[in-house]
Amino acid sequence: MNKTPISVRCPCGQSGYESVFIYTAPPKGETIFLFSSQGYDRKILRCQHCGHFISVQDMNRDELYSENYINAKYAEQGLEESFRRIISLPPNQSDNTLRVQRVLDFSRGYFLASPLEKPLTVLDIGSGLGIFLYRMKSAGWDCTALDPDIRAVEHAKKIIGIQAIHADFLTINDGLGQYDLLAFNKVLEHVADPIAMLKKAVNHVHSTGWVYVEVPDGEQAVWDGPEREEFFIEHHHIYSFTSLAMTCRLSGFTVKSIERVREPSNKYTLRAFLTPMRSCR
Ligand SMILES: [Zn+2]
Repeated sequence: MNKTPISVRCPCGQSGYESVFIYTAPPKGETIFLFSSQGYDRKILRCQHCGHFISVQDMNRDELYSENYINAKYAEQGLEESFRRIISLPPNQSDNTLRVQRVLDFSRGYFLASPLEKPLTVLDIGSGLGIFLYRMKSAGWDCTALDPDIRAVEHAKKIIGIQAIHADFLTINDGLGQYDLLAFNKVLEHVADPIAMLKKAVNHVHSTGWVYVEVPDGEQAVWDGPEREEFFIEHHHIYSFTSLAMTCRLSGFTVKSIERVREPSNKYTLRAFLTPMRSCR
């Protein structure tokens, strides 16, 4: 097997881990990728300082987030069919509907002091199926999607009717601009260096704007055992309340609030609302 070790460390920067789960085969329900279909060897470690979890393995996953991710994740249904199935869920069964309600609530409070002359702008990083922006567009926001997979970008343009950028947020340099809201919905857990990604967001959010971050909550999920989807192979990082706060602080943001939720889909999730540190709000 072509192996590419990935260096993953706790965002708190300390060393000292304890082994929590050891896998010799994919847990039930985990997507089977080409690279993980044989010789499965992976473990979950917990940082002894801040309670953060990391997934450690040396199977090759170089192309996981370009074409292979959508191939493996949505091959059976296709993007548009998955999109239509999810947007037709009743509101109380939809993680996204509740997420959008919470984001709009926070935003109404946050922008209260500055009457709006034009629609607020949002950039959704790792937009995927575009469910979040579909609802934000309905709420009157000026929406832009960003995704490394061209199919997600075409889907956002054609099916949702919004602007979309084909890029990897970590490496894009030109023309991205600034927005009132940057959203990282279940994104930071997928990258080896979440602080590098969140640091970059500082340059693309207005000084009066804010950032929404949503990540898997390992501190809650760990009690339910190794089969929880929060610990699936796609995730390098699974957060604690403390490690999420530290990630945000070390990336140049002030944490306005972190909330612990269990979503209708049964996911354990942490939601963070952040403002750039330079902001005096
Ligand atoms: Zn730590």
